Amino acid sequence: MIAEVIVDVAAYPIDRPFDYLVPKALESVIEPGTRVKVPFGPRKVLGYVTRLKVESELALGKIKPIDELIDLDPVISSELLELSRWLAVETLSYEIDALQVMLPAAMRAKYEKFIIVEEPERIEDADFKAFLAGRKRIQLKEVDSAELMKTLKRYASQGIVTVDTAVGQKTAVKKVRMIKMADEATLQSLIDSIHSNAKKQAELLRWMLEYAGTTISAKQLMEQSGIQAAVLKTVIERGAAFEELAEVYREPDAPQLKDTAIPEQLTDEQQIAVDNIAASADGQQAETFLLHGVTGSGKTEVYLRAIKRVLDKGKEAIVLVPEISLTPQMTSRFKERFGQLVAVMHSALSAGEKYDEWRKIKRGEVKVVVGARSAIFAPFENIGIIILDEEHESTYKQDDTPRYHARDVAIKRAEYYNCPVILGSATPSLESYARASKGVYTMLTLTKRPKNQALPTVTVVDMREELKTGNRSMFSLPLAEAIRIRLEKREQIVLFLNKRGFSSFVLCRDCGTVVECPNCDISLTYHRAHEQLKCHYCGHEERVPLVCPECKSEHIRFFGTGTQKAQEEIAKLFPTARVLRMDVDTTRQKGSHERLLRQFSEGQADILLGTQMIAKGLDFPNITLVGVLAADTTLHLADFRAAEKTFQLMTQVSGRAGRHELPGEVFIQTYSPEHYAIELAKAQHYEPFYNMEMAARRQYGYPPFYFVTLVQFTHEDLLKVADFAEKGARYLKQNLSAGTVVIGPTASAISRVNNRYRYQCLIKYKKEPKLTETLQQLIKYYRTDWIKSGLTMTVDVEPASIY
Ligand code: ADP
Ligand code: ZN
Ligand code: ZN
Repeated sequence: MIAEVIVDVAAYPIDRPFDYLVPKALESVIEPGTRVKVPFGPRKVLGYVTRLKVESELALGKIKPIDELIDLDPVISSELLELSRWLAVETLSYEIDALQVMLPAAMRAKYEKFIIVEEPERIEDADFKAFLAGRKRIQLKEVDSAELMKTLKRYASQGIVTVDTAVGQKTAVKKVRMIKMADEATLQSLIDSIHSNAKKQAELLRWMLEYAGTTISAKQLMEQSGIQAAVLKTVIERGAAFEELAEVYREPDAPQLKDTAIPEQLTDEQQIAVDNIAASADGQQAETFLLHGVTGSGKTEVYLRAIKRVLDKGKEAIVLVPEISLTPQMTSRFKERFGQLVAVMHSALSAGEKYDEWRKIKRGEVKVVVGARSAIFAPFENIGIIILDEEHESTYKQDDTPRYHARDVAIKRAEYYNCPVILGSATPSLESYARASKGVYTMLTLTKRPKNQALPTVTVVDMREELKTGNRSMFSLPLAEAIRIRLEKREQIVLFLNKRGFSSFVLCRDCGTVVECPNCDISLTYHRAHEQLKCHYCGHEERVPLVCPECKSEHIRFFGTGTQKAQEEIAKLFPTARVLRMDVDTTRQKGSHERLLRQFSEGQADILLGTQMIAKGLDFPNITLVGVLAADTTLHLADFRAAEKTFQLMTQVSGRAGRHELPGEVFIQTYSPEHYAIELAKAQHYEPFYNMEMAARRQYGYPPFYFVTLVQFTHEDLLKVADFAEKGARYLKQNLSAGTVVIGPTASAISRVNNRYRYQCLIKYKKEPKLTETLQQLIKYYRTDWIKSGLTMTVDVEPASIY
């Protein structure tokens, strides 16, 4: 027996199955979809059996035998194997990448030694960060300095990274660090004797006193007490608690937020939606629905009912939610209804936790998976429904290879299982709405909120006028007044700033110099906490300069509207207001996201100030005011989706106010109040915006009227990258059909990142039968030849953005 094996080596000539001999002993157990260890050149590598056959074209003597079988049961079903082949073609990626994206990271280890980053958020060493460059898994042999090796050793001893040698799952059984608190008397005497400077320790000891004698996991302890690992370590050394290792079945902690009441009766619109979906599910149809419902119209309730129907028939459900709205509030609604049948998959889980959730799905112990993008590959084998909430979100598109869109994968899997797909949104992507308008998808509409709560009233504030009247603060007079009223009435406020630290740069007031990253053509972002400047593209960090690097003036200071700055202004304007800030900086620690939301839901703060991550999913009755501090920031992106993204964001944010009994009010501050994306977001009517934006897309020839594919080139040498981009563009123009437009090559909007220059070509087409073939050929040139000169080339079919 011969096995075709895709080996875990990503290199052009290897992107095909290789034949291996199946040893007699394995013949009865080996199946397509199982992993094997095979000799490859001088090495042993991991591989995936994709097909079994009787004969090989190669002479028998030339075929090497499989070394070892890793799985007794296939880890990839035949459906997913087929899907991976489709994925590799559609996204022009290596087959091995298309296979591995379907499995949790814990199952991808190789025989070579690898560093696996378990808790990237705890890595602080700048050199080590630069070395990782955002990667989660790096070959150990890449560590080339003693300094890095020392740091690595330290991180490994703290469990922040692990170094794995074998293919087997080291993470299969996780030992959990448990903390057993000392008795009351011991803790009390420690509290009495502690030095007054050791505030954090005292805080933790007092917290522990409440739980004297009990045992809880270290992770939970840190999350609930809000204390850092170092503090815990110190008090353990002082005898306040004992550490032990226990083998615990990992389960992401159950959220502890107030539950959302289960409505007794669906609205008419909801009922129609559920009936339609149920009919399609019962009729075994691979039908795609667009559920277009205004914010708070009860879309989630429709999902829950539809899932219930599917489960009753003994089938399974996949629910995708954008990472940032995968809040405890969201997942608890599913756990409330379906209890232990729900698995949750998101990026905050450790590799081991993800592996556990995956196994539960694989073994059929759960029937519903709620997760971010990659949960679309959940190894269910009897899927009855697939749901994408907030289907317009760009995070459904993976921006690394394989560059797939979860929506396309959902539709593909639904075709296999003959089941419905639900795309839900208050602001559908133009692509989906256009398809629904043409009848490709079935449109379902929710126009009202269940209790007929009015949509909030939206006021657009022209910040140019504010400036003219001498108000230079981030807060316009009307918004400031509205905040004051809410504070008085003890109602809650959400303030939204588009991007972390956006435009919070350091500027010389004398010569106008902005401090830029030495590696990228982008200004550095100011972070007050450590008086640091950081680059959000390459991670470069430096101290804030005391004098201007150009003119030596001392009048150099930060300028802009980051969340930190906003927090300071709030403190000045409303000294008594209790503010919670939620951005990447304050949520880095695991569990902090949940903690902040819980505090806000319990009324421990008046104002929640944050970035994108607060735009969705928040559903608290006491929020009556939403303020958008600067609506312009997404509007001016060099991207054809800029207006769409702005409209979506404004609508989503506005939807946070007045979802329950109290009416809501929204203020949008902007320097371009006349822009149609903002004007129409004010009215909160999707269709007028859709029509307007479609006209613009038609005029400029963008999706959904045309498809686009982005080919990007990067190189350290500007001349080289321009040269290769020119070659690439010429090849595309010569080989694609006459009706296809190739734009470029041009320098990308951010023309240099991490010392690499960036060029791009944009292919626009309506129908291009030669697209895949032509790109495959271009990729072949790149992988066999161009790559040797240090070029990187990426191909992104239907990219999320083009800058
Ligand atoms: P969406 O997902 O469209 O934003 P949700 O499903 O979260 O909307 O519903 C918004 C709020 O309305 C939630 O608090 C939910 O419990 C409530 N709700 C949903 N459907 C009904 C209903 N039929 N009757 C009463 N309340 C409902
Ligand atoms: Zn200067
Ligand atoms: Zn940089």
